[in-house]
Amino acid sequence: MLTAALGPGSVIGILGGGQLGRMTALAAARLGYRCHVYTPEADSPASQVTDRVTVAEFGDSDALDAFAGAVDVVTYEFENIPLASVRLLEARVPVRPGSALLAVSQHRVREKEFAAANRVPVARWRHVTDRSTLADAADAIGFPAVLKTSRFGYDGKGQAVLRAPQDLEPAWTALGTGDAILEGFVGFEREVSVIVARGLDGRPVPYCVVENRHENHILDTTIAPADVPADAAAAARGIAVTLAEAAGLVGVLAVEMFLLADGSLLMNELAPRPHNSGHWTIDGAATSQFEQLVRTVTGHAPGPAELLHPTVMKNLIGEAADTWADVLDEPGARLHLYGKSETRPGRKMGHVNRVARTA
Ligand code: AMP
Repeated sequence: MLTAALGPGSVIGILGGGQLGRMTALAAARLGYRCHVYTPEADSPASQVTDRVTVAEFGDSDALDAFAGAVDVVTYEFENIPLASVRLLEARVPVRPGSALLAVSQHRVREKEFAAANRVPVARWRHVTDRSTLADAADAIGFPAVLKTSRFGYDGKGQAVLRAPQDLEPAWTALGTGDAILEGFVGFEREVSVIVARGLDGRPVPYCVVENRHENHILDTTIAPADVPADAAAAARGIAVTLAEAAGLVGVLAVEMFLLADGSLLMNELAPRPHNSGHWTIDGAATSQFEQLVRTVTGHAPGPAELLHPTVMKNLIGEAADTWADVLDEPGARLHLYGKSETRPGRKMGHVNRVARTA
């Protein structure tokens, strides 16, 4: 144990009140920590499982100040928190992972530059700020291409596939921002991701590579482990470790990648937090991604990350969550619901982990 480690009873501040915060708080409670959730939303999934909650906007400096005084360490469960707020907290209390990595993950240009600085390949891309830079980018990259907002994109929101020059104008208008990237369309074989945990001791602990299948741009299924060649799996884990070390990560980092037919990998996105593609670890790995976050931000080393059982995670999106009673009756299926009272199409309501004895 490191001398800086926080013991049981210490308070972990969590920025964000979604399901990732909820599952982090549950893992923290099991290890004897308390959590204080900071969220603009009343009755959030995370605040339902914690006794300390601040309901305030992320830009509310008085509320941030009181929060900093009430917690021993701060982490976050989603990326789109104003950097100024995170820096304000950072001046008072450790924030893990720190604001520098958060800044990288908040902006696609910084993300691509971070990858390049660490010799991690990405799809061809150009920064686009107006119609003229968009036209230049389309000349350089060709079609098909994907136009993405630099900020605040998630689950396929804020992006459009462009198949021909006549798609440029409507896509640009619909995007409604002067800060975007145009990226070459990648005809990938599979989408994979690796989650890596790293503590103050600096030893990166990656999970196995998993395969992610999307429906309507939303993650639908994660298969752990991914059925990919051993050298591709090793390369994917190597990329995650490289990026975690380069960022000086303390916490967990998810790295989404495209696996191409020739076995090469392109990094797509980073998330310096627990990730939907790591929900399988609750039931299928020696230590869950949420416990890894709790361990590392409180100054402890990550636990072992090995896969205990091949696991398939299926998201319960929108009305799919109405099948919860059937899932409860299914042997080997483990139900996780997030406590969201309102079901909406596309909303992540819960997930099911199905564990198996063999792949
Ligand atoms: P993103 O928000 O960047 O994670 O993109 C959401 C999803 O869109 C990805 O998981 C892919 O399925 C798809 N996608 C994103 N970028 C590309 C690309 N350059 N080529 C092909 N598909 C992409």
